[in-house]
Parts: sequence; structure tokens; C-alpha cells
Amino acid sequence: MRVTRRSFFKVCASGLGSSSVAMLGFPTLDVLAEVREFKLTRTSEARNTCPYCAVGCGIIMHSMGDKAKNAKSSIVHIEGDADHPVNRGTLCPKGASLLDFVHSESRLHYPEYRAPGSNAWTRISWDDAFTRIAKLVKADRDQNFIPRTADGLTVNRWLTTGFLAASASSNESGYLTHKMVRSLGMLAFDNQARV
Ligand code: SF4
Repeated sequence: MRVTRRSFFKVCASGLGSSSVAMLGFPTLDVLAEVREFKLTRTSEARNTCPYCAVGCGIIMHSMGDKAKNAKSSIVHIEGDADHPVNRGTLCPKGASLLDFVHSESRLHYPEYRAPGSNAWTRISWDDAFTRIAKLVKADRDQNFIPRTADGLTVNRWLTTGFLAASASSNESGYLTHKMVRSLGMLAFDNQARV
């Protein structure tokens, strides 16, 4: 029988593995048949969109916890969505590190307000945040909206406030955001994807 260098090492490795297991007192065949539990077996899946850039890759988020009263859900794994037409299951390094983003200690979970002259941020409710934004937007637009130029040309523009949109928005919410921004006359409009 001809023994190549590769087959010689294969035989040595399998022989060493079997003899080591046998020395621990386990029947070799039983040990080889044991399969480690798949780590996502007991997770729930939720589809989402990567929030980082305008490519908009689809992701699947796996979480533990069955939503029972005392069980705290936690996202334990994020991967690319193989059924998504944009990325077909792939993720770039930023998308592949989303789990760290989700569990980051510095992640912002609610709106905060810093009063003029203060160096402290105070937590406020979403209602208070939206109300405050709406009031400021209206006040600035009422004051600075330009319907016509000095030559009488109709322009309907508002240059003193800008809008930064989110890259994880769906097509529909992106369309509505664009409509709202442009109907207000706002020209400064950009996307978080370019930040
Ligand atoms: S950051 Fe990467 S994974 Fe996320 S949407 Fe952009 S390309 Fe896709």
C-alpha cells in the first residue's frame, strides 16, 4: 500500500483523537455521534434593516426570552438576511458588528434635552421632544420663509433649518420624509448615510 505524506498525517490524527477519547472512559462511537446544540435553536427571529448606510441591507435579529412576564428579552445574534434582495445575506464589517452597537453602553435609548448654557442633559418624553421640535420648526419657518426674491420671482424656500434623514428608513417613509421636507420649502436636506 502506498502511503502519501497527507494520508500519513490523517491516519495519525484520527488515531490520536480516538485513543484520547477512549482513555477518558467514553465509548468512541457515542462521543463522535454527540452533536453540539445549534446556538440559535431557541431564539426568535425579527427582520430589520441595517441602520448604518444607504445600502439598506436586510438583517435578521435573533433574541432570547419568550416574552413571559419575568423573562427579559435580549438580542444575542445578528446576521444578514439571505432572502433580502439588496444584500442576499451578506454584511459589511459595520453591519457585521451590529450586535456591539445594540448593546453599547453609550447607546441613546430616549430623547434628551440640554438647556442653553447648561452642561447637563435631561431626559424628556417623546411627546415633549416632538412638541418642542414642532414649535421650533414653525417659529423658524414663520420668521424666515422666503416666498419671492427681490425681483418678484416665486421661490418658496426656507434656508435657515435643515433636515437629516435616517438611512434605515423604508422606501415609503423615505418618500414621505422627502415630500414633507420639500413641501415646507426646506433646501438643506441630507442623509445620515453620508455622515
Ligand atoms: S453599513 Fe454595511 S451592512 Fe449596513 S447597510 Fe451599509 S453596506 Fe449594508
